[in-house]
Amino acid sequence: MLKIVDAHVHLSERSDDALLRFAKINGLSYTLEGLLQEMLRHEVAQGLLLSPPMRKGAPLPNEEILRFCRRSGGKLSPVVTVEPTTREVKAAISLAEANRKDVKAFKVRLGYVKAAADSPVFHGLYDYAESEGLPVLFHTGDTATDTGDLALSHPLTLDRVANGRPELTMVICHFGNPWFEDVAELIYKHPNVYADISGLTTGGGAYPEKFADWLARKISEAIYFAGGPEKVIFGTDYPITRHSDALDLVKRLEVEEGDKEMILWRNAKRMFGL
Ligand SMILES: [Zn+2]
Repeated sequence: MLKIVDAHVHLSERSDDALLRFAKINGLSYTLEGLLQEMLRHEVAQGLLLSPPMRKGAPLPNEEILRFCRRSGGKLSPVVTVEPTTREVKAAISLAEANRKDVKAFKVRLGYVKAAADSPVFHGLYDYAESEGLPVLFHTGDTATDTGDLALSHPLTLDRVANGRPELTMVICHFGNPWFEDVAELIYKHPNVYADISGLTTGGGAYPEKFADWLARKISEAIYFAGGPEKVIFGTDYPITRHSDALDLVKRLEVEEGDKEMILWRNAKRMFGL
């Protein structure tokens, strides 16, 4: 059917990419060509591309993300990553402004950077995103490195931002993993707060079957609590999670088939204006 939207994809084609180890574990080539092939094989029509972290900690420059998207033949759309300095916030807004037709959202890397979601440094970004109707994605929960700051990446840090900004569309990445119940409350409470289910399985580990069941139960329960699947968005977090594993999670959800379709593409299409 080729309709699926993957709202969380990374790529750099650089040898100092910090996500290379996940690509290796998952047996992925982790190149633009490899990604486009995976998308085709799994009937993913469109992807939102985000900067991966480089080994020294900084994300890949946003200009390179825009370049990959231009090379993708319309398959990938850019998300601009915003680091917590006045200069970076300004640069991100100018880049979005100059590429208004292409840029679909912003991304803030909670837990990897020193600032909290409600830090004043992001006020200008939120003002701009709000006025342009561009969603802001937030990394939340577990971090890919063991030095991440979980107090700053906890999903509940977004409650205060959402309280003050009912017009800002926010996406909680990775469903706040493992704080799924907190995220259930956030998407229930706030009309403009969504959550993606990307990056929740990294392959391997003990009890993989039990883990997949547990995860599907947690997400299903969050959907029951929130009163429906309207706020839940599909994503892989490629190359961290394989397309097959991310799609398997959706298959396992104990919800109606029509609701799975909303999660796989309908919600993202509406929310990101794709
Ligand atoms: Zn990610």
